[in-house]
Amino acid sequence: MVHGGDRVDLTDELSARLRRLTQHRATNIGFPAAADFDYSELAPFLAFLLNNLGDPYIAGAWPAHTKDLEIEVVDFLADLFDAPHDDRWGYVASGGTEAVLFALRMARSVYPRGIVYFCESAHIAIPKSADILGLPALTIRATGSGEMDYDDLRYALGQHRDQPAIIVANIGTTMTEAVDDVGHIKRVLRSLAIHEHYIHADAALAGIPLAVDEEPAAWTLAPGGANSVCVSGHKFIGSPIPYGVVVTRRSLVERTRRGGAYTASPDTTISGSRAGHAPLFLWYALHHIGWRDGLRSRAERCRELANYAVRRLSDIGWEAWRNPRAFTVMLRTPPAEITNKWTLATHDGISHLICMPGITQDHIDRFVDDLAPFAKSRERPTADVTSVPRVRSAAPARV
Ligand SMILES: *Cc1c(COP(=O)(O)O)cnc(C)c1O
Repeated sequence: MVHGGDRVDLTDELSARLRRLTQHRATNIGFPAAADFDYSELAPFLAFLLNNLGDPYIAGAWPAHTKDLEIEVVDFLADLFDAPHDDRWGYVASGGTEAVLFALRMARSVYPRGIVYFCESAHIAIPKSADILGLPALTIRATGSGEMDYDDLRYALGQHRDQPAIIVANIGTTMTEAVDDVGHIKRVLRSLAIHEHYIHADAALAGIPLAVDEEPAAWTLAPGGANSVCVSGHKFIGSPIPYGVVVTRRSLVERTRRGGAYTASPDTTISGSRAGHAPLFLWYALHHIGWRDGLRSRAERCRELANYAVRRLSDIGWEAWRNPRAFTVMLRTPPAEITNKWTLATHDGISHLICMPGITQDHIDRFVDDLAPFAKSRERPTADVTSVPRVRSAAPARV
């Protein structure tokens, strides 16, 4: 441990740290963070403070910012998420959590008496934001796949028909990458005649890969869908610094807008000073990946690898499954010999690995080879990898 004032060889210290980070890459397969990025061309920008102070759409008093790029990337995501051209707004936040907090704060300004409904498989950012905002929150049961139990939602909503509903739909849960059916949620609301409602789509990991697919999604900002969507930038896109993006309708944001005084930019965002490097990284990454078409093939490669991982695990007799179109592969938790070496995420006897960009077939092969000696039987048939879980031990999966 180095303490302030101690003499250290800075070069040695930094290269040891880099060595550890590089080594860890070989066995780090449990977290949703793309690792295949290279932003070294942007290194000269580290010599500048880039601060997108205040509202992204109004330049403000501080000159060194990337708000032009921020508007461009938000607009691209707004297109992906079917936001109306004449009613869209968004910003690059410090992470998915800030984006959720922003969305729920907006929901509160529309419905101050609202109740937040969120699934037990939701990310901790949801109950945390409700708590910060002083909004009452009810937890809805998840099914075995991690998707919201719509019967339980109907029951909970039915108890509070006199209060507006603020519903958080998971578009890819943290543990199983389950996707809620916003169309179904809307039908439940309609059947109970709850007309005052707000839906936020928490699409931290899976939002971009699902939105670039051909299949139309019910959770986008198109009429009849969600009111806001958020994604994390360091997940599917990949970045050396965490960030998130929230996209919504301008007409909703106008309700929370305040004057920004000395910044000369309205105070619409949660953070005041905001990282100008984050939009620069995102804009640069989208150029390199190739915008919509590039993102689609990027997602397809991840799904093919996830499919491969399920097949390899099933072939050695290790129970494994994945939700449709998910990068996340659920498996019975391996013994400590394996989990000490490989970074997985584990909860309730179930672990997962996530085939993010940067995870290769070699990772999967080495992992399965390490695991094979612990498998009970090599004779099991290959599981059907496209359907919902068939493996008893896979349910219930909660976070
Ligand atoms: C990661 C994640 C979040 C939180 O995002 P951060 O960028 O880590 O703050 C919220 N929801 C889901 C589903 C996530 O996977």
